[in-house]
Amino acid sequence: MNLTVEHKENISQEDINIFYEFCKKSVDNAEIASYLEACVRCGLCFEACHFAVSENISGKMKPELVPAYKADLLRDIYKENYTILGKIKKALGFGVKITPEKIKEQKFLVYDTCTNCDRCARVCPMGIETPKLTSIVRGALSLAGQAPEDLVNATNAALETGSPFGIDKESYLQILTDISKNHDIQIPIDKNNSEYLYITTSLDLTQFQDSIAKAAKIFNRANLNWTMSSIAREGSNMGVFLGRKDIQKELGKRILEGAKKVGAKYLIYAECGHGYQFLRYVAPNLFEDWDFEVILVDELAYKLINERKINLNKKVLKQTATLHYSCQIGRRGGLTQIPRELTKMVSENYVDSIDKAEKNLCCGGGGGVVINEEAHEHMQKAFLLKIEQYDKVGAKNIVTYCANCQFVLDMNSKEYNRDYQIKSLIELIAEAMED
Ligand code: SF4
Ligand code: SF4
Repeated sequence: MNLTVEHKENISQEDINIFYEFCKKSVDNAEIASYLEACVRCGLCFEACHFAVSENISGKMKPELVPAYKADLLRDIYKENYTILGKIKKALGFGVKITPEKIKEQKFLVYDTCTNCDRCARVCPMGIETPKLTSIVRGALSLAGQAPEDLVNATNAALETGSPFGIDKESYLQILTDISKNHDIQIPIDKNNSEYLYITTSLDLTQFQDSIAKAAKIFNRANLNWTMSSIAREGSNMGVFLGRKDIQKELGKRILEGAKKVGAKYLIYAECGHGYQFLRYVAPNLFEDWDFEVILVDELAYKLINERKINLNKKVLKQTATLHYSCQIGRRGGLTQIPRELTKMVSENYVDSIDKAEKNLCCGGGGGVVINEEAHEHMQKAFLLKIEQYDKVGAKNIVTYCANCQFVLDMNSKEYNRDYQIKSLIELIAEAMED
């Protein structure tokens, strides 16, 4: 396996050329071209972006954070290559000039202050999907060695071990053995002819091990024919963050191989936004023989409740609870009402958040921002908007269905000395099951 990503401190002319060529090739596409042609500079997307707004309320106006601006260099490259006026300008010596400073600015705009949350796309009157444009710029930067070092390191660890945290097969099996013993729960591994394959994440294996035990409790209670796999270990896919289909495919191969080996029909995916996007919507287009139905673990739990294979009989959250909708599973993936219904089932006092469902504000750490040290202060500022919203509805419990959101909200709550309890939905469902 030779695919690796490079991180370079300096930016050479060759790196700039690589950046330019990747952008040029990527915009030669009808959908992308239509987005680049359509912007009418109305500025509505500014108010939708948590980074733009939070920077603004903290006193430092940064107009360059308007989502439309993030695509401007890509737009210029498009025009210069695919429009008559752009070609004439280039011929007259007024073509696009890309300097190392411009490359650094692009990194700031697409990696440090964009979570690919898609909220700006929902307000755009022209239907422009800015995250598709920022993902192209991310891909171009990563090929030119200019992706953030933390993301590059995590990607190389994932390419080598299958895990951005470097959890190899041996460590994975040991973690599952420990979870099984500590929680006195059966966790089948590599069981052939399993209808359901449960795929977890680095965060669950390290930070939220209870969620694995509790998911197993649900599957066992419902008598599912399920297994975990020593090959398809994690669904996290760093290629999504780097805007790189080649990396996405390489990492996806393990899932395909592991799922085929156990004969799975259904891939039950743990609470994880970007991995859900990849497994459910990207992988079927990358692999011809991808023939699985992908279900989020909470979605499956809802089905099992409706089929009366598991029963909930406890309201485990006593204090006011609200739901934080995942950008990738909710806004982009369409799964909003099932998590809301489930949260209501386990809460004595449920309140809707200020921005419901598709409009929900991002946690601030998606798109790889949480592991990018250089983006930390922007992520923290963005959390001020969440505090304002939670306090308005008096929320004490914040329920999440993405481990990344859970981690980010918990970390930021502590940094701002807030006592919100950040909860995983699947864990609450297992706790609410009758004994
Ligand atoms: S995708 Fe989200 S973070 Fe990125 S520019 Fe749009 S609103 Fe801002
Ligand atoms: S909302 Fe859409 S059309 Fe308006 S500035 Fe933003 S990207 Fe352009």
